[in-house]
Amino acid sequence: MKAVFIGPPGAGKGTYASYFSRKYCIPHISTGDIFRDEIAKGTELGEIIKKYIDKGELVPDDIVIEVVKKRLNQPDTRNGFILDGFPRTLNQAKALDEITQIDVAVYIYVPIEIAIERLSNRYICPKCHRIYNLKFNPPKNDLRCDYDGEKLIRRPDDEPEVVKNRYKVYYEQSHPVIDYYRRKNLLIEVDNSSSAEIVVVLLEKTLIERGILKLKPCNPNVSIR
Ligand SMILES: [Zn+2]
Repeated sequence: MKAVFIGPPGAGKGTYASYFSRKYCIPHISTGDIFRDEIAKGTELGEIIKKYIDKGELVPDDIVIEVVKKRLNQPDTRNGFILDGFPRTLNQAKALDEITQIDVAVYIYVPIEIAIERLSNRYICPKCHRIYNLKFNPPKNDLRCDYDGEKLIRRPDDEPEVVKNRYKVYYEQSHPVIDYYRRKNLLIEVDNSSSAEIVVVLLEKTLIERGILKLKPCNPNVSIR
């Protein structure tokens, strides 16, 4: 399954991407994670990306597209992949079509109040990228990852005021992307206001019934959290 998971910040696309990735053993590719890794490693690409992020600017399309292209050429993508947070612009969506043909675009959305509530409680593991929520899905030990014991972090861009702005920017940029996939008949829309445990069952069923998800689970008992 070659999938893109799109949606505003706080909608939960990372949680869903992580679920399908672990259950079906296909890579969960987040451009944000790749950027953060490159910056942390101090690579040449990381230096370039950091300049944009430090200025509060978006990383230009040509750089993002190059990063994605390189990643999709890795052999672990041969049974499929889940792109999380890409494409963000119409230009990126068209560039992705040049790289490969995707099977589905899953659009996950929630109202802004829910996004703010969720993100302000969100902590992530910098090592395995698992996502926790202090209210709904807290780690067993105080701010430590359940799986590898790494200290959990809160991203600065999850602050409520920053979230409001990210949300607005997201809709301005990504409306054309959503319309683009809708016109191509590739769009599945998921209202994630209710419980993720219920929503994921419905999404998985839809993907299987439509013949999009044909893989056998490698880890059948994976849970959404
Ligand atoms: Zn971890």
